[in-house]
Amino acid sequence: MAYDFDLYVIGAGSGGVRCARFAAGFGAKVAVAESRYLGGTCVNVGCVPKKLLVYGAHFAEDFEQASGFGWSLGEANFNWATLIANKDREINRLNGVYRNLLVNSGVTLHEGHAKLIDPHQVEVNGQRYSAKHILIATGGWPQIPDIPGREHAISSNEAFFLKELPKRVLVVGGGYIAVEFAGIFHGLGADTQLLYRGELFLRGFDGAVRKHLREELTKRGLDLQFNADIERIDKLADGSLEVTLKDGRKLAADCVFYATGRRPMLDNLGLENTGVKLDKRGFIEVDEQYQSSEPSILAIGDVIGRVQLTPVALAEGMAVARRLFKPEQYRPVDYQMIPTAVFSLPNIGTVGLTEEQAREAGHKVQIFESRFRPMKLTLTDCQERTLMKLVVDADSDKVLGCHMVGPDAGEIVQGLAIALKAGATKRDFDETIGVHPTAAEEFVTMRTPVAG
Ligand code: FAD
Ligand code: NDP
Repeated sequence: MAYDFDLYVIGAGSGGVRCARFAAGFGAKVAVAESRYLGGTCVNVGCVPKKLLVYGAHFAEDFEQASGFGWSLGEANFNWATLIANKDREINRLNGVYRNLLVNSGVTLHEGHAKLIDPHQVEVNGQRYSAKHILIATGGWPQIPDIPGREHAISSNEAFFLKELPKRVLVVGGGYIAVEFAGIFHGLGADTQLLYRGELFLRGFDGAVRKHLREELTKRGLDLQFNADIERIDKLADGSLEVTLKDGRKLAADCVFYATGRRPMLDNLGLENTGVKLDKRGFIEVDEQYQSSEPSILAIGDVIGRVQLTPVALAEGMAVARRLFKPEQYRPVDYQMIPTAVFSLPNIGTVGLTEEQAREAGHKVQIFESRFRPMKLTLTDCQERTLMKLVVDADSDKVLGCHMVGPDAGEIVQGLAIALKAGATKRDFDETIGVHPTAAEEFVTMRTPVAG
């Protein structure tokens, strides 16, 4: 049967664009449908605008520390509207870059919502298109628990477009987004509280990292409330919000920001017209080659709920393009040793196993840890400390995990990830000459284990 396209991609986000461009480059006839914004979550309401706001928030510290280096500044004033307008301009520019990337690689772009009609057909803007393969790369969407007053809460989607910086913000959640946005709001001058339902935020990260970040954020005056869960949110006559916690406490806020995870974006996608199945958590179920239970339909990225990170969606998109149209170059995605950063202030950077995971997996571990005051702060009153930690397998000497909390941790961990992927041992770390004077050199100078 002749199809309109070899590949029809639904969603021009991180994974969809990567797959479409490379498939077209391999000679396939490709179309992409995008209903909202080119570049998807990462470019429009994710990684990119988030990082710009983190940079914005960081200036508060820079101004504070400048006097130690002889600078005297007038009173610092922050204008939220300027930051948001400049951010929007940059995102518009990137939308154009994504459009050019697609068009220049020969991909047909359909701007509109795509719905599956059957295993080989989609409908966009009233037109039907057939394709041999269909790729679902529709990403995710914020999930706010169903509590009374949830309509008064916002998610990250809205936070990027607030008209003003709220005076008092309650951030709910203990994952990446909650911790990053608590740092953004606090750094930009809002009175910020972070509420997390458990004992300690960032479940799944190394215990030392979680505790260190708690101490550092507390030192900076961020109000962290653990074992705190919201029962209801009420809007008062003056427009402010009253939040009632399950333990009966009441908190006042101007903005309640929920960052309690993301669901797959499957709205009006027409999955019922196909044999695509969902897994227990509601994400699209795929095999190791991203094929769903409907043979012509594949899925990648956040919608399959494996690792919700842009570089992972990119790698999955590339793997699908190669498998379908350049099989001789196909390599499966390796989900081991995925480095990641939380752009909290200070940053977390991490790759490999946490101490807890290593012990649980039965490794006999050696732990190396270093905590120090960064050199830049020695001329200032700031008492912030950096944490670096190595988890080593005592039998093989292999470095199983590297963890850091401190300035530029995300930048530093990228290089360490290459070493760990290549199977570096602690001896390789020890024999590597440091770059002096840097914080990063501490990773190659830790000599004495703190725990075995
Ligand atoms: P997306 O990028 O979400 O793209 C899906 C696209 O599909 C969207 O453009 C959507 O409009 C479109 N779409 C949906 N349904 C349809 C339909 N029926 N028809 C047509 N189009 C449709 N990851 C990192 O690695 N680093 C970070 O610093 C980071 N920060 C983040 C910060 C925030 C606030 C958030 C929310 C996420 C962040 N992420 C980060 C995660 C990252 O953004 C996602 O993992 C990544 O965007 C997933 O890519 P994707 O291709 O699966 O989906
Ligand atoms: P996460 O899954 O990281 O965190 C969700 C948080 O919300 C957890 O602390 C969870 O608690 C809590 N939670 C879940 N349900 C409820 C509830 N009903 N009531 C109260 N708390 C609840 O999700 P995020 O929304 O922070 O981010 C989504 C994903 O996006 C991340 O996992 C990450 O993959 C990606 N991302 C990556 C970034 C980066 O690379 N820097 C930045 C931002 C996002 P508990 O732990 O107890 O379950």
